[in-house]
Amino acid sequence: MRLITTVHEMKSVAREIRAQGKSLALVPTMGALHEGHLSLARRARRECDAVVVSIFVNPTQFGTGEDFTRYPRNLEQDLDLLAPLQVDAAFAPGATEIYPQGFDTFIEPGALAAPLEGAARPGHFSGVATVVVKLFNIVRPDVACFGQKDFQQALLIRHLARDLNLDVRLAICPIVREPDGLAQSSRNAYLDAEDRRAALALYRSLRRAQELVDAGETEARLIVEEMGKVFAAEPRVTPDYAVVVEPARLSPVQRVTPGCVALVAARVGSTRLIDNWIIAPPGTSDDERIQLALERSCSGGL
Ligand code: AMP
Repeated sequence: MRLITTVHEMKSVAREIRAQGKSLALVPTMGALHEGHLSLARRARRECDAVVVSIFVNPTQFGTGEDFTRYPRNLEQDLDLLAPLQVDAAFAPGATEIYPQGFDTFIEPGALAAPLEGAARPGHFSGVATVVVKLFNIVRPDVACFGQKDFQQALLIRHLARDLNLDVRLAICPIVREPDGLAQSSRNAYLDAEDRRAALALYRSLRRAQELVDAGETEARLIVEEMGKVFAAEPRVTPDYAVVVEPARLSPVQRVTPGCVALVAARVGSTRLIDNWIIAPPGTSDDERIQLALERSCSGGL
């Protein structure tokens, strides 16, 4: 695996790969890699002949007062984790390599960026969209792998790729969880033992939503109320939002049907965590759930 730190070298390595007639997959990450990221790298490996994993803590997607400076960084450990996965290159540029002095052009995503994470983190999705388009232009991948973990981000990048005629196919991969259900996240490293226990409220609230649907409940108002009760029982956790939406516009629904998505964001101490769950009948696999939600997002006017 090559470690690449400059845009120039990354472009030339990607060009070499393409010249050999190989297909190329990109996995964009902010590092502090965990099994969730590695599952994306494995998917990339299955999708294409060559794989690039980018590791870049993108300053433009952090707001003032957010955790950019303390975000976990451990390049050596990340490279060790990638080593056994047959990744061709790790692209780990510094901030000034991606945003040299005078950088002054940003992508402004539309309505999908307005609610939920967009409302809680002004400017976040503009930073995400900008860095993703830059990475796509540098690497020019055939396939790019994103996690369902950041559901709104995945939808938005899909929309962006379509709107801007980008020649890239997106692969959206299921959420990798700890054995007790907590979604894996680089930010879980911030949690002390008590917060780690309390953080399970996010997953529990999502499970509660699915349980109610399994029992025949379809009224979103009631389901969201029950999700709120799960948070209320955990005083260390302050929910930011707990909603059930349709995936076309991410608008709240009245009736919960398969392919709707329950999304939560909450603060556990000073750590902000997000998670989501695609509602589907029992026995539906994680990949099928993603398919279901994506189909609904297409039929909804994208
Ligand atoms: P990040 O490093 O947090 O920016 O995440 C990089 C990519 O990994 C994004 O596409 C995330 O959605 C994805 N990702 C993060 N956590 C998980 C997880 N637990 N399971 C699957 N994918 C994940």
